[in-house]
Amino acid sequence: MAAYTPPLRDMDFVLHDVLRVQDQPVPGYADLDRATTAAVLEEVGRISADVLAPLNATGDREGCRLENGVVRTPTGFREAFALLRDGGWTGIDCAPDYGGLGLPFVIHAAAGEFQSAANMAFGMYAGLTHGAYSAIHTHGTDAQKAKWLPSLVACRWTGTMNLTEPQAGTDLALLRTRAEPDGDGYRITGQKIFISAGDHDMAENVVHLVLARLPDAPPGVKGISLFIVPKLLVNDDGSPGPRNAVSVGKVEEKMGIHGNATCVMNYDGAAGELLGEPHQGLKAMFTMMNEARAQVGMQGLAQAAGAYQLAAAYARERLQGHAATGPATPGSPADPIIVHPDVRRLLLDQKAFVEGARAFVLWAATLIDAHAAGDADAGGLVSLLTPVVKGFLTDKGFESCVAAQQVFGGHGYIEETGISQFVRDSRIAMIYEGANGIQALDLVGRKLGSDNGRNIMAFFTLVRAFLKENEADERLKADFLDPLKAASKDLQAAAEFFLANIRDPNAALAGSTDFLHLFGHVCLALMWARMAKAALDAPQDDFHRAKLATGRYFMSRMLPATGLHLARIRTGAAPVMELAAEAF
Ligand SMILES: Cc1cc2nc3c(=O)[nH]c(=O)nc-3n(C[C@H](O)[C@H](O)[C@H](O)COP(=O)(O)OP(=O)(O)OC[C@H]3O[C@@H](n4cnc5c(N)ncnc54)[C@H](O)[C@@H]3O)c2cc1C
Repeated sequence: MAAYTPPLRDMDFVLHDVLRVQDQPVPGYADLDRATTAAVLEEVGRISADVLAPLNATGDREGCRLENGVVRTPTGFREAFALLRDGGWTGIDCAPDYGGLGLPFVIHAAAGEFQSAANMAFGMYAGLTHGAYSAIHTHGTDAQKAKWLPSLVACRWTGTMNLTEPQAGTDLALLRTRAEPDGDGYRITGQKIFISAGDHDMAENVVHLVLARLPDAPPGVKGISLFIVPKLLVNDDGSPGPRNAVSVGKVEEKMGIHGNATCVMNYDGAAGELLGEPHQGLKAMFTMMNEARAQVGMQGLAQAAGAYQLAAAYARERLQGHAATGPATPGSPADPIIVHPDVRRLLLDQKAFVEGARAFVLWAATLIDAHAAGDADAGGLVSLLTPVVKGFLTDKGFESCVAAQQVFGGHGYIEETGISQFVRDSRIAMIYEGANGIQALDLVGRKLGSDNGRNIMAFFTLVRAFLKENEADERLKADFLDPLKAASKDLQAAAEFFLANIRDPNAALAGSTDFLHLFGHVCLALMWARMAKAALDAPQDDFHRAKLATGRYFMSRMLPATGLHLARIRTGAAPVMELAAEAF
C-alpha cells in the first residue's frame, strides 16, 4: 500500500508566506489566518492519507463494473465518499446559500491536491460535481439553482460533463446529439463516450450536463446548446423520482484511473432542461471546462507529488553500490541509492517541479478568486494561464511520475510498489479536457494575441515589477533574479517571433508546445523567486534551507530549458511541415 503524507507545511508556507492570502484585498481572504487554513487542510489531509490513499490500489485493482445497468465502484469507495460528504468537504468554496462552506476557491484547490494525490480516480467524482455546480451557478435561472445546487454541493447527487461523441473529440463542430423541444423541456437523443463518473453507486442521482443541437441550430460550434439531464427525474418536492431515458452502454477498459467509471452514455429521448441561452451552450460549458482544466493541471502536480514521496523514501532505503567517492555508510555492503548523483538528479527534478507547480496552482487559484470578486485584470491572467496550468503541469507531472518510477528500477515496473499506478493514472491528464497540443494551440492561437496582447503584457509587467522591487537584494540576485530575467527574455523573444511571422500560422503552431513549455518554465521561475524571497526572510531552519536549495536547483538545472524551447520555436514551420512532408 502506497502511503501518503499531505504536505501541510509546504501548503502553509505557500499560502501564508509567499502568496500572503491573509493580506490580499479579496473577499473572504481576511478570514484566512493560519489557524483557519490549517484546520481545514489538516482534516482533509487526514482523510486523504488515512482513507483515500489506502483505497487507491483497491480502485486500481478492482475497477468499476456495470451490473444490471448500474455501475458498482470499488470496495470502500461508497463509505469514503459518504465520509467526505458528511464532513461538508465537497462544498468548501460553494455558496452558503446552497449549503457550501463559502471559503475562497484557493482553499478548495489546496484541499483538492491532497485528495487527488491520495486517489486521483476517486477525487474526480467530487471534482466533476463541483464543475457542474459552477456551470449551473453561473448560467442557471434562480429556479434551476434552487433545484440542483443544494444536492450537488452536498454530493447527494454528482455531476458529469458530456461533450465527446465517437466522431466528435477535439472538433465539437461535429457533434450530433439532438435536443427536441417537448412541452416546457427537451428530449435528448444521442450517444456520448468517455464520460468520467458517468454512473456509480455512491450518490442517489447523477446530473449530466450534455451538449446537444436544437432543431433550428446553425451548423458548427455556434449551434450547440447545453442541457441538464438527470439519471433520475426529480419530483416536485425535490426528491429523485423515476428513471430518465439515459443509460450506461458500457464502462471503458483503460490504462489507468480504474476507480473512475468512464462510461458510454446513451440518451434515448431523455428529458432535459436548457441551461443558459439556446445555441450558447459551449460558452456555458466553458465555465465547467475552464474549471476542469485548472483541476486537471492540479492532477498533474498531485500525481507527481504523490509519486515523489514514494521515490524519496525508496531512495533512502534501497541499498545498491557505493558512492563514487567511497562508501558513505562504512561497514554496510552498499549505500542507499540516494548517494548516487543520477538518483539525486531524478529526485531533485521531481521536487523542484512539484514545489514550483504547487505554488503556481495556488497562485492561479488566487487569481480566480480575485476575478470572481470583479478584478478584470486577474481574469485576463487566468484566461492566459489556464492552458499553461493544464498543459505544462500535466506534461511535466507525467514526466515526474516516470522519474519517480525510474528511482525504483525494476521494482517500479512491478505493481506491488504502487509507483506504476502513478505513471498510468497521470497519463490521461495530458489527454482529456483538451489534449495538450490543443492547449498549446489555444495559448498561441487565441490567448497570446487576445485584447492586443494585453494579458501577456500584464504578465511581463508582473515579472518586471518583482525584479525591480528586489533588485537591491544581493541574496536573490545571482541565483534567482538573473535567471528569471533571462528566461523571461526568452519568452518575450518567442512572442516577438510569432508576431513577426503572423502571416504564417504554421510557424506559430509548429512552436506552440515549445511556447507552452517555455511559458510554464517562466511561471515556475517566478514562483521559485517569490518562494526564495519568502524563505530568505524567514528563520533559517531545515524547511527554509531545503526550500532555497531546491529553488537554486530549479533555476540552475531546469530553467535553462527555455533556451532550447526558444531555439526550436525560431526554426519556424519548415522543419515540421516541409521536412515532415518528406520524412513520412
Ligand atoms: C479516461 C477518459 C476520460 C474522459 N472524460 C471525459 C468526460 O468526462 N467528458 C467528455 O466529454 N470527454 C471526456 N473524455 C474525452 C476527451 O476529452 C477526449 O478524448 C479528448 O478531448 C480528445 O479527443 P479525441 O480522443 O477524439 O482525440 P482527437 O480529437 O481525435 O485528437 C487526436 C490527436 O490529434 C490532435 N489534434 C486534433 N485536432 C487538432 C488540431 N486542430 N490541431 C492540432 N492537433 C489536433 C489532438 O491534440 C490529439 O493529440 C475522456 C477521455 C478519456 C480517455
